[in-house]
Amino acid sequence: MTRLVMKFGGTSVADISRIRHVARHVKREVGLGHEVAVLVSAMSGETNRLIELTRDVAALHDAREYDVVVSTGEQVTTGLLAMALQQEGVQARSWLGWQICVRTDGAHGAARIDGIDTAMIEERMAQGQVAVIAGFQGVGGDQRITTLGRGGTDTSAVAVAAALNADRCDIYTDVDGVYTTDPRIVEKSQKIDRIGYEEMLEMASQGAKVLQTRSVELAMVHDVRLQVLSSYLDPDSLDAEKLPGTLVCSEDEIVEQQVVSGIAYSRDEAKITLRQVPDKPGIAADIFGILADAGFNVDMIVQNITEDGKTTDITFTVGEADAERAVNVLKARAQPGEFGDIQADKNVAKISVVGIGMRSHSGVARTMFQTLAEKGINIQVISTSEIKVSVLIESEYTELAIRALHTAYGLDAD
Ligand code: ADP
Ligand code: ASP
Ligand code: MG
Repeated sequence: MTRLVMKFGGTSVADISRIRHVARHVKREVGLGHEVAVLVSAMSGETNRLIELTRDVAALHDAREYDVVVSTGEQVTTGLLAMALQQEGVQARSWLGWQICVRTDGAHGAARIDGIDTAMIEERMAQGQVAVIAGFQGVGGDQRITTLGRGGTDTSAVAVAAALNADRCDIYTDVDGVYTTDPRIVEKSQKIDRIGYEEMLEMASQGAKVLQTRSVELAMVHDVRLQVLSSYLDPDSLDAEKLPGTLVCSEDEIVEQQVVSGIAYSRDEAKITLRQVPDKPGIAADIFGILADAGFNVDMIVQNITEDGKTTDITFTVGEADAERAVNVLKARAQPGEFGDIQADKNVAKISVVGIGMRSHSGVARTMFQTLAEKGINIQVISTSEIKVSVLIESEYTELAIRALHTAYGLDAD
């Protein structure tokens, strides 16, 4: 018997008719004799609405109460899907994070899963009952509700699949797989049939939100194969032996490898520049120490060469939502004289080209810089890893840059 985890995102459960459609997908798998656990997100737009409510009460609110509020969207959809399954004649019950229980650390708003007790759901699944589990939520050490960060239901699904030792983890979404870039921006983007964990991890962490970064990390560690496919398909049209979409799997399973596999982008960036920074040992350690202690995730960093041998500029990026707070923390905590002026600029976007082939091929960065130059797009910051090159550009050029790069690396569909 196959044990299966299915995950449905926000647009897939956006209204009652979509939820009924999801129930048909689940019914199909149950009909094939599989044991099934389903993870659901909140209806699309609902989590944003809940976040707005918390902001309306107070800009600086208690993160524990924030989680109590924003986790509720998933409670609604688990109950509704369990009902819709029962209407289809499928045995099902809902499970909230605390009920099964999904244990997390105490990082409210961005909690990490420590473990899942699957005994109860395994018992029910063995009796033919579908477990409909609320994604995105867990319970911290102090018994308080936690959430896993935006897009966290992907991670819930992979964690449940790993804990259940599931044979498959199918991620149903509103696109029919992982594409060479966001298909909403580049019409000529192509669906990728198979992508390795490492490349998918880099794509996700650089902004391709089709899978939450942490979910890919977990899948890689626990060797969970992910099939990404569209929930819009007609369940009756699916081939039980071979599902459509994209398989995220180990690199060894991929025969043909491109030099550049995809292009990711993120508009959720802010650039912070410190001027008149004394050019001497210890200053960078101090500045980035302050940011780390305050919990900021700093991404790209450049330090310019000094013109006068005395002072320099340091530029780095943080998430857009963190910009003001990072500036305030630095102003409050840095030693006098560690920098002169400080500026934040949110009008930036990060574009990344990703490909495992970069390990063995040169010239990828050059093609990127040349292509952007031909379009008159200025590069503000650059960062690289073994399998990606990222640049920070003015945000108004985001789409132009992605399209031009997609063509330059030969990724356009015919
Ligand atoms: P869900 O609600 O199902 O979790 P998301 O909105 O989180 O769905 O993720 C799916 C979206 O990810 C797509 O609608 C698409 O716009 C976006 N996306 C960004 N990059 C890619 C990519 N490379 N391939 C596929 N989709 C992508
Ligand atoms: N509902 C949550 C969000 O919108 C989790 C998810 O959709 O995966 O971020
Ligand atoms: Mg998502």
